[in-house]
Amino acid sequence: MSVFDDLVGQQPVVAQLQAAADAAGRIVAGNDRGSSAMTHAWLFTGPPGSGRSVAARAFAAALQCEQGGCGHCAACTQALGGTHPDVAVVVPEGLHLLVNDAREVILRSSRAPTRGRWQVTLIEDADRMEERTSNTLLKAVEEPPPHGVLLLCAPSVEDLLPTIRSRCRLVPLRTPPFEAVAEVLVRRDGIDPAMAAFAARAAQGHIGRARRLARDEQARRERSDVLSLPRSLQGIGSAMQAAKDLVDAAQAEAARLTGDRDTAEKEALSTALGGGATGKGYTGGTPRGGAGALKDLEKRQKSRGTRTSRDALDRALVDLAAFYRDVLTIQLRTGTALIHDDLGEQAATIARATSPESTVRRIDAVLACRTALEGNVAPLLAVESMALALRTG
Ligand SMILES: [Zn+2]
Repeated sequence: MSVFDDLVGQQPVVAQLQAAADAAGRIVAGNDRGSSAMTHAWLFTGPPGSGRSVAARAFAAALQCEQGGCGHCAACTQALGGTHPDVAVVVPEGLHLLVNDAREVILRSSRAPTRGRWQVTLIEDADRMEERTSNTLLKAVEEPPPHGVLLLCAPSVEDLLPTIRSRCRLVPLRTPPFEAVAEVLVRRDGIDPAMAAFAARAAQGHIGRARRLARDEQARRERSDVLSLPRSLQGIGSAMQAAKDLVDAAQAEAARLTGDRDTAEKEALSTALGGGATGKGYTGGTPRGGAGALKDLEKRQKSRGTRTSRDALDRALVDLAAFYRDVLTIQLRTGTALIHDDLGEQAATIARATSPESTVRRIDAVLACRTALEGNVAPLLAVESMALALRTG
């Protein structure tokens, strides 16, 4: 057993990280033989779902483990579970990583590790750093404390300032093969092999998404709804309606995913502030000083909701693009396996009724919509313009 067991289909990365953890262990033990396998700043890149943060967490555990990542000692368990005192994990919840959060992180990373090994700081979605935040972080990368290790995760190297990425060692993850994803769903999650194979393919190698598709019937229904869109696009009216449905569905999905957590957080805050109690400072209604904290929380939750809903919409667009890729595959008779295997009939119907050139235009329209959303265009506007371009009638 090893902390790297869950890194699906990433053998070169596992070898790289294992070597680094071994070298790090020798440095801690004081018998470093000048190996260059270990360094202070790392950048984990790869498409969403490739396991960037899984890899970074596993590496953090391997650095804290006396056996280089055995997977079962206290250090491993704590690091993987997010409770190790020398591993700080920063997950930007909203659309941006705020400069104040970054300062706190950097302050913390300069402290000596409490357990004498490494002070690890892991930043997920480092691409969501504002420029000011990046500049704060740059200082930490330029002058790393002796036992500080910074792990950054981002979709690609281009997502970070050149000054930061040039100081990081790159850990490039790839989209894992469908078979490897299906295998892990069966082995670790006990999912039926046929369902695992379907989900791995439909999720296009995104492990988290595959797991959700395999386990959650609602997630499968949402996917079917998205993929029924191409058939419903006839006239302008139906295109506009379909666009609205798609945006509404993404919002509903986000509400479903964040709703329980929002409520729990509000209740926790209210308890912490003495709400519902009659203790000191409680004046009925909102506790004194609580209004600011509540407003703060609501702001964070709103930002998280917006992001979750955008992520849901983006996933829908990825599914749609794959559907038109299937249409093109049929039109060009390439013999390549379809991604949305279960919708082969629908793809074939559209393939017969349209030309390969128009399919390429439709794929472009979906990708343009993703780019527009990244650039903060209002979701409904962007999706309407895409739906109009996807029309067949
Ligand atoms: Zn261990």
